[in-house]
Amino acid sequence: MSGIVQIVSCLDGYDPEALRVDKAIEAIKACLTPISQAEAVPVREALGRVLAQEIVPDINVPAHDNSAMDGYAVRSSDLADKETALEEIGVALAGKPLRGAVGAGQCARVMTGAVMPQGTDAVVIQEVVKRDGKRIVVPPGQKKGQNVRYAGEDLKIGVPVLKSGKHLRPAEIGLIASLGIGEVQVKRRLRVAFFATGDELASIGAKLREGEIYDSNRYTLHGMLSRLGVDITDLGVVRDRPDLLEKAFLEAAGSADVVITTGGVSVGEADFIKQLMAKLGEVLFWKIAMRPGRPMAFGRIGDAFLFGLPGNPVAVMVTFYQFVRDALLHLSGRTDDYAIALLNAISSEKIRKVAGRTEYQRGILYREGGQWKVRTTGQQGSGVLRSMSEANCFIVLEHSRGSVAAGEPVQVQVMEGLT
Ligand code: AMP
Ligand code: MG
Repeated sequence: MSGIVQIVSCLDGYDPEALRVDKAIEAIKACLTPISQAEAVPVREALGRVLAQEIVPDINVPAHDNSAMDGYAVRSSDLADKETALEEIGVALAGKPLRGAVGAGQCARVMTGAVMPQGTDAVVIQEVVKRDGKRIVVPPGQKKGQNVRYAGEDLKIGVPVLKSGKHLRPAEIGLIASLGIGEVQVKRRLRVAFFATGDELASIGAKLREGEIYDSNRYTLHGMLSRLGVDITDLGVVRDRPDLLEKAFLEAAGSADVVITTGGVSVGEADFIKQLMAKLGEVLFWKIAMRPGRPMAFGRIGDAFLFGLPGNPVAVMVTFYQFVRDALLHLSGRTDDYAIALLNAISSEKIRKVAGRTEYQRGILYREGGQWKVRTTGQQGSGVLRSMSEANCFIVLEHSRGSVAAGEPVQVQVMEGLT
């Protein structure tokens, strides 16, 4: 374990007291080492996993030149600038090739997917020919190679098609299957343990006492982690007591690759956590120039990385999506591009914003007059979880930007499909 403090303090413009979002992302990434262990799984079960091998075809896909249409396979050298009459000598179906070759002046009936009969090099679609028994009349204007799918046009023997680190979606699963491969190596799942901290937290099923609130962070975290396909351990609610917290941190770090906590990192509480963390590992406490989600801790305890998220429910979700998600994907071994897309939309209203921090306002993206427009969900307090539920996007107001006037373009991150 090489020192996190050492790595991070070498970064240009690193200021833990007023850390820009982009710097925090850079600092986290600089410290992470992706997991390397892999396991073999049947191809269907590899959906959503991270590939841990290169896929190099040992067959061509398709394996043979074949017809892309229903029609007639012809020899383009037979055709002229006028109608040409050819003799149909047989039929080739998908999976049932024509025996023998097509000679000069001849053609063969072919169906989509049929192997191109020997001697032929183009397919004339059935809709344009005239037929009279075995006599097929082809109109002028046909071209060599038309309506033919060539062997290896999809995947070629020896040409690598998937790299290690690729996220396996339905397309990749099908592609691997098209090569006849039944089992693939994938990275083992990342193990993530989490707990919520707070003396005010009540668990579902318990009656609320004065000053208590139900813990919701563990539920949003569980939901967000489930979508990422990691192995999840929920360690429950831990009271703000050093002995209990120490036990929870050690238990979590002992079995997981990543530990996520919520609460206890705000200025009022951080001192006490800081002392504890100094004993257990190496943890940085950041004030990030963002809203919501200003306080956050990042570090290592034993072999596990720690993300100490704020306590406020919206801040938990925002810091998760902006920092933790990408960190977990990186740790999982992903090497493809998994950044959340930033798209442009027109703000339909004025948005108050202070320059010098990145804001993630909850927005509603909608289509109007042929344009994508966005408005906020209203009240943006970091405790208003309803704002997340009403939103279908984050309005990302960049660091140096001030207030937004109605009609100005802004950037948004769409929540639908967000992992
Ligand atoms: P903290 O960062 O611990 O000071 O918490 C900040 C705010 O978030 C407080 O108002 C807490 O009551 C609230 N909060 C902390 N943890 C949770 C939780 N697990 N579920 C819902 N609200 C929480
Ligand atoms: Mg607290």
